[in-house]
Amino acid sequence: MMSESGALGCRLSRCDRISPMQEAENVVCQRCGEAYARAMIQLRTVMALKKTPASERAAQLVELEGITPDAALAWLKHEMHKTCEMRLAHCPVCGGELTTWQAKWCRHCELDWH
Ligand SMILES: [Zn+2]
Ligand SMILES: [Zn+2]
Repeated sequence: MMSESGALGCRLSRCDRISPMQEAENVVCQRCGEAYARAMIQLRTVMALKKTPASERAAQLVELEGITPDAALAWLKHEMHKTCEMRLAHCPVCGGELTTWQAKWCRHCELDWH
């Protein structure tokens, strides 16, 4: 027969491992093209973050949302602060800069290659 503490320990460690990822969804950033696990942040957390200095927001996210520090930093970088580097793409015809790296039309010559 399995001991009570053993069964409980097993449940707890499995819970620990899964919970940070439950809210995360793998996405590709529209700005920089980097893939990251996007955490679903509650609106009330976003409101609280707005009153917090930028340098303390990652720690606050970890505390309020129970996500990993990596997920908190990725969310701030790609979603809130938008400090990730904009990936550039250019029109195949006129060479003009596109609005996003995924854009399939050119605002300069109005070419559309969907
Ligand atoms: Zn990004
Ligand atoms: Zn063009």
